Amino acid sequence: MPMQTIEELFEHELQDIYSAEQSLLEALEQMAQESSDREIKRGFMQHRKETQGQIKRLEKIYKSLGQKPESGSCPGVEGLIKEKKLFMREKPSNELLEFYNIGAAQKVERYEITAYESLVDMAEKLGMTDIVDLLEQNLQEEEMALNKLKAIASEFDVAEDVDEEVDAEEEPAASSRR
Ligand code: FE
Ligand code: FE
Ligand code: ZN
Repeated sequence: MPMQTIEELFEHELQDIYSAEQSLLEALEQMAQESSDREIKRGFMQHRKETQGQIKRLEKIYKSLGQKPESGSCPGVEGLIKEKKLFMREKPSNELLEFYNIGAAQKVERYEITAYESLVDMAEKLGMTDIVDLLEQNLQEEEMALNKLKAIASEFDVAEDVDEEVDAEEEPAASSRR
């Protein structure tokens, strides 16, 4: 049956962001592992925890619609994850990888923000007030995450000295950053 209603489109997009959030749990953990700066590491893990809460809210939405999410994939976010895998071929220094991740994470947040904005808009059109509320909570967390990443990126000091980067791995976090 061809899709014809906003309800159906809403459900389609809900499934997309649900799949995206699932993939991001793993990606955020990976990026935390790749961060030597303790503050950045903590930031990624904190957003991972928020993501778990976002998934719970999405499941609440499914429940109120009398439906269940499927295990699918979001090609948009999968594409961003794939770009990161391609980037690894460049054999970046630890520091550059860390800086790259902060940019890549911003791309993801923008994807999520746009997805939630559209979902909020559709839920409003459909008069689903409680669902609007839950989606807006997710949207706000994504916006806060994006702002935090922007601040981290502008504070990030990329060392010009290549020799220094070699032992960056063993360095206790933060020392070389500011
Ligand atoms: Fe999210
Ligand atoms: Fe998607
Ligand atoms: Zn996010």
